[in-house]
Amino acid sequence: MPIRTLVNHQAGSIAAAAAGGRESLPLRHPEKANRSDNPIQRKPAWMRVKAPTHPVYHETRTVMRENCLVTVCEEAAYPNIGECWAQRHATMMIMGGICTRACAFCNVATGLPEPLDVDEPARVADAVARLDLRHVVVTSVDRDDLSDGGAGHFAATIRAIRAAAPGTTIEVLTPGFLRKDGALEVVVEARPDVLNHNLETVPKLYPIVRPGARYYHSLRLLDQAKRLDPSLFTKSGLMVGLGEERGEVLQVMDDLRSAEVDFLTIGQYLQPTVKHAAVARFVEPAEFEDHARMARAKAFLLVSATPLTRSSYHADRDFAALREAREAHERKRRAIAGAVPGVSNGTQEGDAS
Ligand code: SF4
Repeated sequence: MPIRTLVNHQAGSIAAAAAGGRESLPLRHPEKANRSDNPIQRKPAWMRVKAPTHPVYHETRTVMRENCLVTVCEEAAYPNIGECWAQRHATMMIMGGICTRACAFCNVATGLPEPLDVDEPARVADAVARLDLRHVVVTSVDRDDLSDGGAGHFAATIRAIRAAAPGTTIEVLTPGFLRKDGALEVVVEARPDVLNHNLETVPKLYPIVRPGARYYHSLRLLDQAKRLDPSLFTKSGLMVGLGEERGEVLQVMDDLRSAEVDFLTIGQYLQPTVKHAAVARFVEPAEFEDHARMARAKAFLLVSATPLTRSSYHADRDFAALREAREAHERKRRAIAGAVPGVSNGTQEGDAS
């Protein structure tokens, strides 16, 4: 069993299980306790990262602690935390650190979450303002226990950030809101800049890797978000190294483009503990380059595919690139429309009706 320091859960109930800093898996992942162990493979050189030492990393950590905030960077044991926090990038995880789902790849604790904290949107907004973030990513655990899946809390958080930090662009990484009719509309109406929902893996692996989710529901969510607000940037991510084939990854890319998703992230799956899904293989950097090349050919506005890519890795820099890519695309479309007789430039003149 790996030694993993428990992080500061809002509920505090999990921390009580720690004995001398040693993780108590039956409490953090009770549903996985009786599974047989999957030995953790040694990471290849390209997956290794340095331990965080930068002073700004510690400042970011302090702001998070003072505002009693949970971050997915810690909860999910992200490998890039040292680099991200040293640049004041932190992905805020709202609605607590306990999830009602139990995905086979995820290190977030499973259990019955605490009631919603109505002051949390204001604390998130305060942290965003104090860190002077250009771009913030807000995500959450899955809250199947709430009638709206937490959509109202997402919307309240977006509004609080807009009020406290009007210059900050906002990205939400939402759950799938399965069986939560109207939830997506509530989030989109709050006008985030980016709506991200990760497909995570190929359809074949959903029953094992993401048993509480449905591939086509997640895809429809992304499609619907774009229909509700065409100005919204949509984004999705995949992990590789779980046993998927190249052709299946390419099919997911096609599905995402059918849903008009703008931005695709692809990164290597890393196994958090021996009770989680095994890494089928470490995908070579050259294969990531191949995925990136194929995705660009399929006309995503932006692609990030590297072994260490995570859905919110370099999110602020990527958001700027996404905006530029859309503007360049629009300029090109207008230029073609101007050069080719009969091609609409998006105004009324092309309408026959
Ligand atoms: S729904 Fe999200 S937070 Fe919950 S277990 Fe799955 S990946 Fe982790």
